[in-house]
This record gives sequence, C-alpha cells and structure tokens, in this order.
Amino acid sequence: MPNKPTAIVIGAGIGGIATAARLAKNGYEVTVLEKNETPGGRCNQIIRDGHRFDIGPTLFLMPEIWEETFASLGEKMSDHLDLRRIDPTYKVHFDDGLQLELTSNIGSMQTQLENVEKTAFTGFLNYIAEGGKHYKVSVEKFVGRNFYNIFEYFSPANLPLLFKLKALKKHFANVGTFFKDERLKAAFTFQNMYLGLSPYDAPATYSLLQYTELAEGVWYPMGGMYAAIQALVHVAEKLGVKFIYNAPIRRIHVNAKKVVAVELEDGRQFNSDIFVGNADLPYIYKELLPDRAEAKKLEDKLYTCSTIMFYWGVDKEYKQIAHHNVFLGGEYKASFEKIFNEHTLPEVPSFYVHAPARTDKSAAPEGQETLYVLVPVGHLDARSEQDWGAMIKRARKTVFNRLANEMGATDLKEHIKFEIVYQPKVWKERFNLEKGSAFGLSHNFTQVGYLRPQNRHKQYKNLYFAGASTHPGTGLPIVLLSAKLTTQRILKEQAKLHAKTFQPSNVQPVNA
Ligand SMILES: Cc1cc2nc3c(=O)[nH]c(=O)nc-3n(C[C@H](O)[C@H](O)[C@H](O)COP(=O)(O)OP(=O)(O)OC[C@H]3O[C@@H](n4cnc5c(N)ncnc54)[C@H](O)[C@@H]3O)c2cc1C
Repeated sequence: MPNKPTAIVIGAGIGGIATAARLAKNGYEVTVLEKNETPGGRCNQIIRDGHRFDIGPTLFLMPEIWEETFASLGEKMSDHLDLRRIDPTYKVHFDDGLQLELTSNIGSMQTQLENVEKTAFTGFLNYIAEGGKHYKVSVEKFVGRNFYNIFEYFSPANLPLLFKLKALKKHFANVGTFFKDERLKAAFTFQNMYLGLSPYDAPATYSLLQYTELAEGVWYPMGGMYAAIQALVHVAEKLGVKFIYNAPIRRIHVNAKKVVAVELEDGRQFNSDIFVGNADLPYIYKELLPDRAEAKKLEDKLYTCSTIMFYWGVDKEYKQIAHHNVFLGGEYKASFEKIFNEHTLPEVPSFYVHAPARTDKSAAPEGQETLYVLVPVGHLDARSEQDWGAMIKRARKTVFNRLANEMGATDLKEHIKFEIVYQPKVWKERFNLEKGSAFGLSHNFTQVGYLRPQNRHKQYKNLYFAGASTHPGTGLPIVLLSAKLTTQRILKEQAKLHAKTFQPSNVQPVNA
C-alpha cells in the first residue's frame, strides 16, 4: 500500500474541520492543529451552571449547503442534526415603538407592512424576488466556484452578471427603490450586520440575505449551533482525521517555493505534503509567515465590525423575549458611521438578543433563561482612542433600558446570576482574529471574488486557505463552501503537480 498524501490543517474552526473531512474522504491523511482546547472557533459554546450559550453564530442559514457538505462526506445531515425552523424569524423593535415580526407567513407580512406603508407589501414581494435572483446567480456564478485568474472573474460572461447582481450599487440605496419608510429600509438591510457590514457600503447583491432567511428559512439545531460542530468533528474523525488541541502554531517554515513545516509554541514541528490555514488569513500572513509586504497590504484592507457580547445566566424566565430579537437604534446611518469609520460604539446602539430556551429547553435550567446579547461595535484601531470599559458599560445600560421599557423585563438586572463579556480584544486573543474583527475581512466590491485573498498562497504552492477571510467569505454556510472550493483546488493542483513525482511523507512531529 503506497503512503497516503498528508495534510496539516491550522485551526479547527468550521472551515478547518470541513476541509479536513473532505481531504480525508479524498484519500489524505489529515491532522488538525488547534490552538484552543476545543474545536469550533467562533462557533463554540460556553456551558455554565446549566446554561448553554452559543458564543458566535445563532442563525443556521442555507440548509442546502450544509446538506451538501454532509452528503459529500457520505452522510445524511438529518442523521446528525435535529433542525427546527424558527418562524417568525425575528422580532424587530424600533425605537419609536413599532414592532415587526419578519415571517414567511405572507398574509401576516402583508398586514404588518401595509400598516406602515401602503405600497410596502408589493415592494416586499419585489425585493424578495430580487434577493432570490441574487442568491441563485451568486452561488452558481461567483460564490460557489474558484477563480484561478482575473480573466475568469472579469470574463465577458461574468461582467453583465455583476450588473445584474447590482454589485456596484449600495444595498441601502437600492432598498429605497422598494420602500420609502426609513424603518422598513432599516428592517430589510440590518441583516448586513450579520456579515459585519454596513448597508451603506455593502453591495446591493446582499438582498440575497433577506431572501434566504424568509424563503429558505432560519433554522436551529436542537442542542445549539455547537451541535453542528460536534456532528462535523464526529464525521471527520470517522474518516480518520486526527485532531490535536491546545496546539498553537507559532511559525510556518518555508523555502523559496513551499511550506516545509509548522512549529508549535512548545517547539514541536510537523511536516506534511500540503498545509491548509484555517486561522484568520490576515493573521497567518502577519504572524506566522515571513512575508512582511503581503502582511502590510492585508492590514490596510477593510475589515468587518466587532461585537460586545453579554452572556447572561438568568434565574427567571422571560417568555416575552422571542428566540431572535433585534432592537434598532434611531440614528441608523450615524450608527454605521460610528462603527465603521470611527471604530467605536454608536451614540444609540442597536443590538440583538438570542433566547434559545424558547425553542430548546436544554439551553437553560427549568424556569430560567440563557440570554446572549450582541452589540455591534468598531474593530480594534490603534489610531483611535477606545475606552472599552466605558463602551461596555454604556452598551449594557442601553440593553437593560430597552428590555425593561419595551419588553417589560424590568427586574432583569436582579435576576442575572452571572455575566460573561466578550469584546474585540477577546475575539483577537481567543481566536487570533486580526483587529478583533468578528467576521474577518470585509466584503466590499474590491474584496470579493478573485479580488479577495485567494485560497492558495501565490508563492508557496502547497499552502492553502479555508475560512471566513478567504474566498468566498464569512458566515457558516459560506465557510462550508470555502472548504469545498479549497479542497477542489487542492485535489486539482496537487494531482497535477505530483502526477509523476509524488513522494508523500507521513505527518509526524519531526523534532518532538
Ligand atoms: C458574534 C458572531 C455572530 C455570528 N453569527 C453568525 C450567524 O448567526 N450565522 C452564521 O452563519 N455565521 C455567523 N457568524 C460568522 C461565523 O461564525 C464565521 O464566519 C465562521 O465561524 C468562521 O469560521 P472559520 O473556520 O473561518 O474561522 P474560526 O471560527 O475563526 O476558526 C479558526 C480556528 O483557528 C484557530 N487558530 C487561530 N490561530 C491559530 C494558531 N496559531 N494555531 C492553531 N490554531 C489557531 C482558532 O482558535 C479557531 O479555532 C458569526 C460570527 C460571530 C463572531
């Protein structure tokens, strides 16, 4: 039996796990080296005193992409995950008292929208139809494929599609052609924040988000989002992938053409035929590779926002808080300027509250509540003054006030048993996210498709990338696509490269 080709994956985020599993399925002997004690990266969980918090993602979107991942590994998603559809998807609270329940129930949407603006329901139907077109064309022509050179990206066939997808138009400007009421414009663009983007900068293409949420559904795996990570790790291990935790890599050793080994903090080195960087791509260039010029270029790119998170274990139930709740501050445009230009907390912060126990009793002890609050905020910026203590205090106060005034949770403060806070510095330290940007590199026009950092290093031909800051981008299903595209590229290129001379080595510490 000839030796199998070997792969080292740096990081056990969802991108690392899925790439590892796909490579193993295709005959590679794969080892994943993860800095932290558990897999999942940003899609991790905290369990304390019977309360279970998902720390990052809470919206399970685009189930067909997940299904395809499981199928490509020889599995059926329904054998691993018990998915429940959340509908209404979320309740949106405006600061003037208006509330909207976004739902796939068309009758309910019609009543709610026409109460706000006479023509809004027609606008909504047209908007969702456009979002559907954007979703299908994007996945088929841009997001779901590799671009090996600039001519493939700006090909005569693709150029008209960029216009069809309104890639050069801003999302907020575009939504104005469907709705006049400022609150409705906000209700159908704030979802950009789930990708860490401002609707004033994001391409109008992103109306695809509202389409996927309402048409394809917002889902929840029973047991929490982490159940999806556990399922994928289980499948990967079944395929022979070896996971090594508490294994932070401190250096990638290279020669002129390729990576030769990775070195852990404790000095152990691992060699391999190919390497896949799943840790945040700008961090890999900056901290692990010798390439200063490339690292500087990446540092100057646009980054998504960060978040202040409150994870509260509460000894009382608040049934009036829905599974997903969005509270929009009044100064919509100004708030994005504060977050994306001044890298700070808006004067009137918007926020999101997740109460998983509404759907899944196992998320909290009987009669109690597990609350997750996400407050968007600017990323770390050495050039501006950022008083995180003061911002966290102000964010907390805003949340308490609105939950008390608008949801009747007046005694919430007294019922909080414990609080865990994440802020940009925690995102940076725990997961090595450049600038503490919670969602990685931004997705403006010059940072998507072929223009986004590619999923293979230009010089080191055996170093690949899979994850939120490479092509196609952030969000769990999109990172699953990244794992698929990176694997396709590896299989195509490595087979060609080693057709005659392949001399695989075994993955093992060379100086343990
Ligand atoms: C607050 C928040 C809310 C979100 N909400 C949603 C949502 O509702 N739905 C959705 O689809 N997406 C959501 N996202 C986005 C989603 O979480 C990410 O796009 C996705 O998890 C990124 O996965 P990844 O594999 O690219 O990276 P990561 O999850 O960052 O994984 C990279 C891994 O590399 C490891 N690593 C780093 N450095 C090293 C090193 N030197 N050595 C070894 N290992 C290393 C890290 O510890 C980490 O485990 C959210 C993100 C956040 C932060």
